[in-house]
This record gives sequence, C-alpha cells and structure tokens, in this order.
Amino acid sequence: MVIGARLKKRLLLAFTAACFTILLAQTIIRHFWILPTFEAMTRQNDRIDIQRVESQLQQELDALSKMVFDSSAWDTMYEAAQQRDTQWFNSDYVIADALQRLDVNGWYLYDTQANIIGGGSFNSDYQPYSPTVLETPNLLIKNNLIILSDDITTSQSESIHKVRFITIDKTPAVTVAYNVTRSDGTGEFVGTLLLWSFIDEGFIENLTPGLANDISFYGTDEAPKYKEHLIRVFGEKRSAVETTQHNRRLYLGVNDQAGDLLFVLSIASRERTYDRSLFDSSLITGLLISGSVFILFYLYINQQVLRPLRKLYTLVNSAIRNNDFSARDEYFGNNELHQLGRGMNELFTLIENQRAEILERHQKLKHISNTDSMTTLANRRALDKHFAKLASDAELASQPISMIVADIDHFKLYNDYYGHDQGDKALCEVANILKYNTNPDSHFVARYGGEEFVIVLSNTDKQEALKVAETLRNAVASAHITHQGRADLSYVTLSIGVASKAANEAFDSDSLFKIADDALYKAKKQGRNCCVVG
Ligand code: GH3
Ligand code: MG
Ligand code: MG
Repeated sequence: MVIGARLKKRLLLAFTAACFTILLAQTIIRHFWILPTFEAMTRQNDRIDIQRVESQLQQELDALSKMVFDSSAWDTMYEAAQQRDTQWFNSDYVIADALQRLDVNGWYLYDTQANIIGGGSFNSDYQPYSPTVLETPNLLIKNNLIILSDDITTSQSESIHKVRFITIDKTPAVTVAYNVTRSDGTGEFVGTLLLWSFIDEGFIENLTPGLANDISFYGTDEAPKYKEHLIRVFGEKRSAVETTQHNRRLYLGVNDQAGDLLFVLSIASRERTYDRSLFDSSLITGLLISGSVFILFYLYINQQVLRPLRKLYTLVNSAIRNNDFSARDEYFGNNELHQLGRGMNELFTLIENQRAEILERHQKLKHISNTDSMTTLANRRALDKHFAKLASDAELASQPISMIVADIDHFKLYNDYYGHDQGDKALCEVANILKYNTNPDSHFVARYGGEEFVIVLSNTDKQEALKVAETLRNAVASAHITHQGRADLSYVTLSIGVASKAANEAFDSDSLFKIADDALYKAKKQGRNCCVVG
C-alpha cells in the first residue's frame, strides 16, 4: 500500500470517528439533558394547569360552604332547629326556583341524631326527589356526612364544616355540612345544616369562567377509563404516579368517601413548546451538516495534502526503483507540500546533472585508461579487454579471427639519428597511417608497446588478413617518412607477422599472438619491410 493511501485511510477513519463522536455527543446531550429538561418543564406545566382546575373546584366548594354559613337567617334557623320547626325551614329553604338559581339540589336541617328536622331535594330537572342516603340517619352517619357530637368535642374550631363527595343514584354529588350553633358561636350544638348538589356538566359550568368551557366532565360511568391517566387526585397531597398528558389532555380525579374514583375533570394541555421529531430532525440536520463539513474538509485536505503527497511519493518511488530521475510533476499550489514538490523537481534536476557530469567524467577516464596518450590508439589495457571480449562472446569466437603484429624497422637507429622527440612524431605518423587504413568496425588497432602495434581483425581469415597487412605495410612505406639513420632504405618501414584462427577453432589470444610474433621475427629475418603469415 502506498503512503498516500495509508494516510487517506487513516484520515477517512478519523473523520468518520469524529462524525460518530458528534452524533454520539448530540444524542447524549439530547437524551440526558435537553429532553429530560423539556419533559420536566412539561410535567411542571401540566401540574400547574391541573392545579388551577383543582383550585377552581376548591373555590366552587368554598362558595358552597359560604352559601351554607352565610345563611342570613342563621340565628332564626338555630331556634328552628331547637324547636324542630320543620315548617319554617321548608318554607324558607326548600324552594325549587331558588335552589336552581344557586345550582344546588337540596337543603336539610338535621338534629344531633341525624334525624331530619326539615328539608328536601330536587333532581336534575328540579322535580321533587328523595335521595335515600341523605334521608336515612344511619346512612348519613355511616357516610360521615353530618356533624355529630364527637366532631364537636374533637374540633378546635367552633364552626365545623364537612365537604363530602358521594354517589347519589349513580351520579356524583357533593355535600356540605355545617354544625348549627348561634352565629356568634354561643349556644348549644343543635344539629347540622346540609346542602348538596349533583356534580354534572351544570356544576362544572359554574367553575370559574374562562376555564369552564375547556373543562370536560366524566361521570361515574366514564371516570374509570381515565384512572391511569390522572395527574392528580383532588385533595391529595401528591399523586402516586408521575403521569403526564394523555391524548393532549390532563386529568384530575375526584374520589368519594371510600377512596373510589367518583368523577374526572380534564382540560386540554398546552401546546408543546418542543417536539421529539423536531429534535430528531435537528439531530439529522446536524449530522448532515457536520458530515458535509467533514467531506468538504476531507476534499480540501485531499487536494492540499494527500494528492501532492501521493504524487511526490509516486515520483520519488519510481525514480528510486527505476534509477531514472528524468520524471517531473507539476505543482502550482503555495503550501509547503507544493513547495516540497517543486524542491523535489529541482533536486531531480540536480541529480540528473550530476549524474551526467559523473558519466562524462567516467567516459573520459575510461577513454584515457584505454588510450595510448601519444598515438591516441588503443593501449595494451584496451587490447587485453578486447581479447577478453572476443574470448567470452561465443558468436564472435565462432568466426575466423586474425591478428597482425607490426614493428617499425630499425627504429633505434631513427632515434639515434633524429632524437627521441622526432622519434615520437614518427611513431605518431605510423599510428595515424594504421588508423586510417583500417576499418574501425572490424579492425581493432592498438599500440602494443614501444614501436610495436597489434591489429585484431574480427571475422577475417588468413588471406584477408594478409591483404590488410600488405596494405598497411605498403601505406607506411609509401608515406616515405624519411629515415636517414638506416643503411638499407631511407624511409620508415614496417615488418609484419600475421596469425589467424579458423572459424571452428577456439580463440586464444596468447597463442595467436605468439604465432604472429614468431611470423614477425621471420619477417625481420627475411630482411624487413615485408609480411609473413604464421
Ligand atoms: P628492429 O628492426 O630489429 O626492430 O630494430 P629496432 O631498432 O627497431 O629494434 P630495437 O628493439 O633494438 O629498438 C627499439 C627502439 O624503439 C628502442 C627505442 O629507442 C625505440 N623506442 C621504443 N619506444 C619508443 C618511443 O616511445 N619513442 C621513441 N622515440 N622511441 C622509442
Ligand atoms: Mg620492437
Ligand atoms: Mg623495431
């Protein structure tokens, strides 16, 4: 894997991890902080709203209680109770129209034993009506609806009132009872004054206006359906279960004496100031935004860092692997990586130039080490290499190879006559003649040492080689390089020995040279300026 891809993978991994961390953080904040806060606020609002209904119901009950206690004829009633004046009570209190106006269903005056002194009731349609529970002493006592002597002795206050919720003919009802003494508190306790009312839609409508229209009433039959959704039970300190709204409504339950659910009041809950789906969409939006930002950021990093880094890595890697520093990439950006890329291009140029220079020097050195500095012919070292090459190359070795060994005649005398410097010049002249009369493709001309030359002729048989030898000998002689030092001739000549190996013979430079050298010796013997084939 290339370095760029590894970095890319890690960056992508880091970006994905960052995205997930943000999502996780958002979810945690949402789940453990925002939602619970909003839900606590909602529950608080629900409680406040339902407490308003509760307090309005309480106000209505207080109004009923006041209605009993504020009776204008209280003291007269005290006497009527003392005297058991049924007639007076019934004519003053039990009047259907008056009760209907007050939205009350009945009045009763009881003695201390729960016997009726006076009173009467009306049903919902304000027709005469006799609720058994209010007209039977033991039921009154059993349901604790009236004031008894025991209540008086245990009470701190002089005026005692009892508010009770009961069911009268399967309809919820409320009773309010007061102990009857004189209005100034003096006088013996003579009985109970009781007022009662059915709790129905009409009763609920009497709750403080403003809320009344919103309040729904569920009587004894319907109430159990809402039992589990009650936020509060009227009069109880706190509800057992932390319930909130149901079907966008809040429910207040009212229990009867026995603790059974009697009726339920409900109001519409307030519009929620938050919505879970809003949170979900904000979460998704947040994630999409952060995801997009990360993608853009990644693309930017990719453009600014990863791409130039990958380009740089590929360039350097392939240059090192192929040992070729000629490739270049283009970097137009301004950041450090682009600058590094341009720096790398310059470094490659430098490496290339230095390599070219080294190569040139190497070529020069190689040339010098293989060249005879005076004649510029190949030297002995180069000749040895050429032999090695011929020996190792099976194709060349399978061809006929010939060797010419040429020696300048009486050169000692030349030096003696003309001096060493002039000798050098003559040597160079001979070397040039050899060079220009041979074919550089197949004839390898070398200065063997002193005034002796060796010419190796590739793919050349004995006859051909002899022809070349003759040509060379003739060329030197014809050049008429003056040599007054010798006695036989007045110009420089060559003696030449020729040796050849046939196409099917193995190449052995030493033995071939020996044969050619022996032939040269014979040529000298034969009077010089001639060619002898060995
Ligand atoms: P022969 O015909 O038998 O070859 O006689 P020769 O004098 O050429 O042979 P000999 O071996 O006796 O002498 C070779 C001479 O070549 C000796 C030396 O002074 C001369 N010589 C060798 N190398 C150089 C050189 O580089 N420069 C000069 N000027 N003379 C050289
Ligand atoms: Mg010699
Ligand atoms: Mg010689």
